[in-house]
Amino acid sequence: MKKQKHVVVIGGGASGIVAAISAKRNGADVTLLERNSRVGKKILATGNGRCNLTNINSDINFYNGQNPKFIYSTFGQFGIQETLSFFEKLGIEYKVEANGKVFPMSDQSSSVLDVLLYELNHLGVTIITDCYVTELKKNKRTFLVKSSDNKTFLCDSVVFATGGKSMPSSGSDGSGYELIKKLNHTIVPVFPSLVQLILQCDFLKRIDGVKFVGRADLIVNKKSCSTDRGDILFTSYGISGPPILQLSRKAGEFLQNNKECYIRLSILDTMTEDEIQKRLERRFEDNSYKTIFESMIGLVNKRLIPVILLEANISNQNRLASTLTKLEKKQIASLLKKWDFQIIGTKDWNNSQATAGGVNTNEVYSDTLESKKVEGLFFSGEVLDIDGQCGGFNLQWAWSSGMLAGRNAATL
Ligand SMILES: Cc1cc2nc3c(=O)[nH]c(=O)nc-3n(C[C@H](O)[C@H](O)[C@H](O)COP(=O)(O)OP(=O)(O)OC[C@H]3O[C@@H](n4cnc5c(N)ncnc54)[C@H](O)[C@@H]3O)c2cc1C
Repeated sequence: MKKQKHVVVIGGGASGIVAAISAKRNGADVTLLERNSRVGKKILATGNGRCNLTNINSDINFYNGQNPKFIYSTFGQFGIQETLSFFEKLGIEYKVEANGKVFPMSDQSSSVLDVLLYELNHLGVTIITDCYVTELKKNKRTFLVKSSDNKTFLCDSVVFATGGKSMPSSGSDGSGYELIKKLNHTIVPVFPSLVQLILQCDFLKRIDGVKFVGRADLIVNKKSCSTDRGDILFTSYGISGPPILQLSRKAGEFLQNNKECYIRLSILDTMTEDEIQKRLERRFEDNSYKTIFESMIGLVNKRLIPVILLEANISNQNRLASTLTKLEKKQIASLLKKWDFQIIGTKDWNNSQATAGGVNTNEVYSDTLESKKVEGLFFSGEVLDIDGQCGGFNLQWAWSSGMLAGRNAATL
């Protein structure tokens, strides 16, 4: 008879929890180590407290990293259908919302964590909290895991699921990278993803809080390299909103490479520039007795009008609309269609929802998630150099990779 394996899972986030369940279901004796006083803290914050647990459209196009194809094998073995059925069996009824986003019927991320905790307990996984792992070594066939309070754990296999650096208050502070470097793994440089952008702009304080539904393009070398549409929000430092978070991954990458990049906003994105121009002509004609400022009320958010006019080099907004020159009208139309702002940074880890970069996937077998450098060491979740777009893709990666890493840690 094969000897029962002892598996230690380091990190009790989404991925580590599922890895522990998977390893236990596959016959191992499992210990889950978590530095916080409870496991799954970040799960509670996901999807604005509703947990966007996956996306029915998940495929490689929604993932980034030096080698996004790395996910193929994992998703082939445990994909969306398997994930949905895993959660259904645990008690989570789900619903599919706009753009394929899947949420629990309860609209509560706490219910996702609850059912995972029930399963951990039901299976008899040993959970040790307040356990900050500071050392990981391998002696011959046995791993030695040490925590900051000098607890030591010996085991046959390890699942390394310490997450990235996003939302450090949830426990993922990047300490995992330092641990794993000591085992000769390399880390693809990390930067915040799914994060707000900081813009070079003098008048942001005046439009802080202004929201509109429109389009945003990421511009590099005068060309759009990515675009998204939805609720966009000006803030005192720059810009936020779902389309901005989606573009932030690429923007962060350009900034890392010292490339100049811009965000191009289209406030009236459903009209062509020509149509906007014609609409403006008519408005200014109909409202010729009003000031320029007054004549634009009702077309765009009122707080945007003074700054748009300033940008169009119209300093006196109290002139009558009838005095606008052709060039001035053209400039206003152009700004409403494509208004460029230089991106000078992203907000920090406290604000980001995902980590770009991480453990180099070239050093990990894609079909088993085992390290190519240390036999018996498996990786799962955000600690790897894989990150997804907004919309349930990151949790899907956490569940799929956790399931596979846990199973293989128990059986290989
Ligand atoms: C605000 C917010 C909202 C999000 N919403 C969504 C969403 O709706 N849908 C979606 O798909 N994704 C969402 N994400 C992303 C998603 O939550 C993460 O990609 C996912 O949780 C990663 O899981 P993980 O287990 O790999 O890492 P983590 O969840 O970060 O877990 C890592 C765990 O390891 C522990 N740990 C770290 N170092 C050590 C150590 N040295 N010793 C012991 N323990 C350690 C940490 O305390 C932590 O509990 C969101 C992220 C944030 C920040």
